Amino acid sequence: MSMPLVEAAASGPAQIRIGRCGACGHRYFPFQPLGCERCGAHGATQSPILVPARGSVLAAVGVWKHRSPGIEAPFQVADVLLDAGVKVRALIDADPCRPATLGTPVSGIVVQAGDTPVAPLRFTVVGERA
Ligand SMILES: [Zn+2]
Repeated sequence: MSMPLVEAAASGPAQIRIGRCGACGHRYFPFQPLGCERCGAHGATQSPILVPARGSVLAAVGVWKHRSPGIEAPFQVADVLLDAGVKVRALIDADPCRPATLGTPVSGIVVQAGDTPVAPLRFTVVGERA
């Protein structure tokens, strides 16, 4: 069973496939049926659900050189706490000289990654920190 981690939406933010434990309610990313990291339940108790790629920045950093071929720098990477309560790490369209600050609201879209090894999810800043 292979499901994409991210799906484009007709409008609004992309949808991210996270996991939800039916035994304790814990949510996690990426989805996997092997077992809940909190309570240990596994198998059919673990369900994939789609949630909006919308949240706020926990941390961000500018990357100026990447070791892997085919990945052009500079770019910015951010840890984002989704409104659904799960943390994801993805690229963010922002100036690498000015990393996004804690609490900056962001929204994710699916971009065409082509043949590069870069993940198809990109976050953009959608406002200022509340
Ligand atoms: Zn659990």
